[in-house]
Amino acid sequence: MLQDQVALVTGASRGIGRSIAIELASKGAKVAVNYAGSEDRAEAVVQEIRDSGGVAIKIQADVAKEDDVKRMIKTVVDEFGRLDILVNNAGITKDNLLMRMKEEEFDAVINTNLKGVFLCTKGVTRQMMKQKYGRIVNVASIVGVSGNPGQANYVAAKAGVIGLTKSNAKELASRNIQVNAVAPGYITTDMTEALTEDQREQMLSLIPLNRLGEAEDVARVVRFLASEDANYMTGQTLHVDGGMVM
Ligand code: NAD
Repeated sequence: MLQDQVALVTGASRGIGRSIAIELASKGAKVAVNYAGSEDRAEAVVQEIRDSGGVAIKIQADVAKEDDVKRMIKTVVDEFGRLDILVNNAGITKDNLLMRMKEEEFDAVINTNLKGVFLCTKGVTRQMMKQKYGRIVNVASIVGVSGNPGQANYVAAKAGVIGLTKSNAKELASRNIQVNAVAPGYITTDMTEALTEDQREQMLSLIPLNRLGEAEDVARVVRFLASEDANYMTGQTLHVDGGMVM
């Protein structure tokens, strides 16, 4: 399905990014696993892909730093000769009530979650234009649509990602570069592990499908948007949230 295609997944050493990398590789894509923190976890993802007969490399880079992003993209193209799929997945949270939120907390989340998407997308554009082919999938969040108390920084970034998805989709469409997004709801990963039993029950009461999401639920939709099955879609944000926001 993605045979001979090359994918770069940011923040792919764990959680949703890890699942996306493994899912794309399972459909034949050669995958570059970007990581910022733990090299061991990134190496484990690469090994898992290789053990299943796939092709993967790991690349350390902070998506909020343009020099890192340029080096990362050059590494992918030098290694594999092309870059067909970019998944902008890397993200952080630094939750705080508005009145207590420090400027650094706001900036850090905007820099990784929004500027990172801008830098990586800008970075791959020349190569994708040369190929006259590209598929970009951004990982937003339903809170970018609905808002969420205590997450002014994160919500602003994710709403920005949904806006960037539309803007970039319009700008790049004539070059056969399609840009779509997924907006996950509540997915069980390291990012969301702190939920108490009460919070979990309350969350479930808001989810019509009555379960929290798994990273694989998101990965399969990303794989769809990255594939030729989604050839007539661009600028869209698909909610992967068990029906939580509709
Ligand atoms: P996670 O914390 O498990 O994984 C995030 C990954 O991003 C980590 O591997 C981390 O090292 C990497 N990362 C962080 N900053 C980076 C940087 N500057 N450069 C490169 N990599 C960086 O979180 P997750 O739940 O897997 O989240 C993945 C994406 O999904 C994020 O964009 C997040 O906002 C989004 N999301 C998650 C949920 C959820 O419920 N888990 C819901 C909606 C959206």
